[in-house]
Amino acid sequence: MSPELVHTMVLMATAMAAGNGLVLFSAYRSFPKDVQGLGYWCLGAAVSVLIGPSYGLVYVLPQAWALIIANCMVFVSTIAIVAGTTRFFRRAINWPVLLSFSGSAYLLLLWFLLVHDNFPLRVVIAAFFLCTMYVAQVFLILRHGDRHFSSYFLVALLLIQTLAILNNACHIYQQQETPFDIFHGGFAHQFYLYSNTFMSLLIGVGIMLMSTHELQKCLVQRALTDPLTEALNRRGFDIAYQQKNAAAASLQMRLSALVIDIDHFKAINDQYGHGMGDLVLVDIVRTIRDHLKPDDVLARFGGEEFVVLSAVSSIDTAVALANAIQRQLAQQTAQQTQPDLPAYTISIGIALQKDDGHAEALIHAADRALYQAKKKGRNRVCVEGQKEFDPVLSDDAKYQQAAHNPL
Ligand code: GH3
Ligand code: MG
Ligand code: MG
Repeated sequence: MSPELVHTMVLMATAMAAGNGLVLFSAYRSFPKDVQGLGYWCLGAAVSVLIGPSYGLVYVLPQAWALIIANCMVFVSTIAIVAGTTRFFRRAINWPVLLSFSGSAYLLLLWFLLVHDNFPLRVVIAAFFLCTMYVAQVFLILRHGDRHFSSYFLVALLLIQTLAILNNACHIYQQQETPFDIFHGGFAHQFYLYSNTFMSLLIGVGIMLMSTHELQKCLVQRALTDPLTEALNRRGFDIAYQQKNAAAASLQMRLSALVIDIDHFKAINDQYGHGMGDLVLVDIVRTIRDHLKPDDVLARFGGEEFVVLSAVSSIDTAVALANAIQRQLAQQTAQQTQPDLPAYTISIGIALQKDDGHAEALIHAADRALYQAKKKGRNRVCVEGQKEFDPVLSDDAKYQQAAHNPL
C-alpha cells in the first residue's frame, strides 16, 4: 500500500464519519425521544471525525503526543457509541464499569508508550479494548434487538470489524515488528485499514437503520394507542380484532367482548376536576390489565368506555373476568388502597362473537348488554341475551362499595 493510498483512506474515513455525524445529528434533533441513544451515537461520530486528523499530528507534534491524543479520541468515540447502543435498548449505562475498564486500558496504553515503549503490546491492548466494546454491543443487540434486518446488519459489521482488529493485533504481536511500517503491514494490516475505512460509514448506516426501524415502531405505536391510558385506540382495536378473531377460530374458541363503562364519570370530572378524571381512566386500565391474559386485547373506545376482547371457551369465562374486575374495584374502594382517587364503579356488558365474525356486530351486542347494566342501576355485569343477569358481587362487597361511593 502506498502512503498516498493510506492517506486517502484516512481522509475518506474522516469524511464518512463526518457525514455520519451529520445524519445522526439530524436524527437526534428530529426523532422523538422514544428513540434513545442518538445523542451518544452522535457524539461518538463527532469525536471519530477527529481520529484521522489526530494521527496526522505526527507530522507536526512529537509522535508520542499525537498518539496520546489520537488514542484518546478512539477511546472517547468508542465509549460514546457503546453508551448510545446501551441507551438505545433502554438499558442503564454502567458508567463505573465502562469508565474504569476504558480508563485502565488507556493508562496501560500510555505506560507502553511513555514508560516502556512497546508498539505490539499497545496494539494488543487497544485491540482488547475495542473488541470487548464491539462484542458487548453484539450481545446487547442479539439480546434486546428485534429480529430485524437492521439488527443483523449491525451485528455483522461489528463482528467483521472485531475480526479485522483481532487479526491485525495477532499479526503484529506475532511478528513483533518494531517499529511497525503502517504502509507495508501485509494482508492483516490491509484488511484492518479497509475495514476501518468502510466501517466508519457502514456502522453509521447500521445505526441509522436500527434507529429508523425504532422510529417506525414508535410511530405505529402512537397511531394505534391512546396516549393517556396506553390502551389501543379504535384503529389499533380494528387490527387487533382481526388477529384475535382468526386466532380464536383456529383454537376453536369463541371471541368475547366486554364493554366497560365508568359510572357517572361526568360527576367525577365535575366534582374533582378533569385531571382527577384522567387519573381514574389510568387506574381503570391498570385494574383491567391486572386480570387480562397476555393475548387479551384492551382498547379505549372514546371517553370512559373500554373494550376487552378475550378468546373464551364459554360465556362463563367472560363473566368470571368481568366479575374479577368488578371485585377488585370493590376491594379497592372498601380497603381504600387508592386513597388519592375518588371511589368509582363500572358497568360491564358482555357478548359472544356470532358466526358472522364482524367486530361491529359484536360490539353492538356488548353495548346492548351495557345499556341493560346501566338501566338496572349501574355497577353490575350484564350478558347480551340474558335479561336477568346480576353481578356476582357478595352483598358485603356491594354494601361496602355503596358506603364508600360518594356519587
Ligand atoms: P354513565 O354512568 O351513564 O356512563 O354516565 P357518565 O357520566 O359516565 O357518562 P357521560 O357520557 O354522561 O359522560 C362521560 C364524560 O366523560 C363526559 C366527558 O367530559 C368525560 N370525558 C371524556 N373523555 C375524557 C377524558 O379523556 N378525560 C376526562 N377526565 N374526562 C373525559
Ligand atoms: Mg360512563
Ligand atoms: Mg360512556
